[in-house]
Amino acid sequence: MGGGHHHAAQVPASLGRDLRACLRCRLVKTYDQFNKNGCENCKFFHMEQEHDRILECTTVNFSGLISSMDPTGSWAARWLRISKFVPGCYALAVSGVLNEDMQNICEDNNIKYVPR
Ligand SMILES: [Zn+2]
Repeated sequence: MGGGHHHAAQVPASLGRDLRACLRCRLVKTYDQFNKNGCENCKFFHMEQEHDRILECTTVNFSGLISSMDPTGSWAARWLRISKFVPGCYALAVSGVLNEDMQNICEDNNIKYVPR
């Protein structure tokens, strides 16, 4: 073991049914983790404070799950275009888009949101 402390997202504490994926960055964590720490890539949603937003900004409807502990170097990260995101677990695909309010928050923060 060794190495420094990388800034990384929490990894899902369990692989149960309470896993949710962020609609913007596809980071996957449990509801509780979003509840406590929000989304590490999308801090401007402030999900850890505005808990209603967890349901608006994340979804249980996602498929695939990859662990990307070194996003800058991994082919998967390049393919997923998540190399700018913090290391963590990501969904390969999410269904659903951010609602208008949440898209406005992105805009207010100069965040480009591209619905898939
Ligand atoms: Zn996010």
